[in-house]
Amino acid sequence: MTNHRIALIPGDGIGTEVVPAARRVLDAVGAEHGVSFTYRSFDWSCARHLREGAMMPEDGLDRLREHDAILLGAVGYPGVPDHVSLWGLLIPIRRGFRQYVNVRPIRVFEGVESPLRSAEPGSVDFVVVRENVEGEYSEIGGRLNRGFPEEMAVQEAVFTRAGVNRVLDYAFTLAARRAGRLTSATKSNGIVHTMPFWDELVAERAAHHPGVSWDQEHIDALAAKFVLDPRRFDVVVGSNLFGDILSDLAAAVAGSIGIAPAANLNPEGDFPSMFEPVHGSAPDIAGLGIANPLGAIWSAAMMLDHLGHPEAATRVTDAMAAVLAATSVRTPDLGGTASTEEFTTELLARL
Ligand code: ATP
Ligand code: MG
Repeated sequence: MTNHRIALIPGDGIGTEVVPAARRVLDAVGAEHGVSFTYRSFDWSCARHLREGAMMPEDGLDRLREHDAILLGAVGYPGVPDHVSLWGLLIPIRRGFRQYVNVRPIRVFEGVESPLRSAEPGSVDFVVVRENVEGEYSEIGGRLNRGFPEEMAVQEAVFTRAGVNRVLDYAFTLAARRAGRLTSATKSNGIVHTMPFWDELVAERAAHHPGVSWDQEHIDALAAKFVLDPRRFDVVVGSNLFGDILSDLAAAVAGSIGIAPAANLNPEGDFPSMFEPVHGSAPDIAGLGIANPLGAIWSAAMMLDHLGHPEAATRVTDAMAAVLAATSVRTPDLGGTASTEEFTTELLARL
């Protein structure tokens, strides 16, 4: 029996409703695959920020460090600005634990309606790989002459050879395990220093992954193709900003933001990786018990894969596909009437 220590950060709103659902699934699938979990739950959240003035304690990273992985629900609270939860919790964890890859798989499941006519069920199945710690989201820059007519703002983007290479290698390796196609998001016609550098590194790394065919698209055209023909993609890799935008767009294409998962990976395993649904705390439905748990459950499946249990992970995604294709049990965001608990129970029955 393999045991993994899992840090749970349910967070705020529906985060506290979907994490227990994911935990039920982990325990059930683990029992069948000889894997057990020891959980420790942390109440770090915007609610904590309002109570105690900080999202997490000062030694928060040290406490997380003892775990094999982190499962996060969602953080966000009406009246607490997004930058508080971002810079008070998510970014310190991503950077502190060198989670330099953000992976977001996209599938249009049978039984789920995509807003796109071009996306028949089963036909869309790709992964967005986002650079997660450098790029456009740097703190370098400043504001000058505030309030004067000469007022200006400058923000620098930071791309390092090592930082770009490692996320590209992850993306090429992932593509080799999948359909063998990689698309790089660029904008080297308009952004004349960082993006040509990115393009050069893509071409260089491609030479180390001869089994993968690759191309590049400008971000504007690529966004249009996500909508017009999402079936063409296998692995799409982008910088921090481009990957952020593309992965939210892709989650919308897949039919409900309630399904989309994300993994913040430290591929070397030197530090715990963090798994979280793409959706936020959804204050509008929090407390009603009707949140779609699939984003959290799929995130837990990615965690199983990362911890070395790919068959268990596939069991979970197969059960998700089965419950959506073969039953009408689903939460209201997918047009059903089931509660989070009923939907989870139905999924467990298909496991
Ligand atoms: P936050 O500030 O935490 O990011 P938000 O309201 O900006 O919250 P989401 O929480 O992602 O963003 O919610 C966007 C919309 O999608 C809301 O109407 C919410 O109810 C819905 N939604 C998000 N996640 C789910 C889910 N798991 N199940 C059902 N509906 C969801
Ligand atoms: Mg939000």
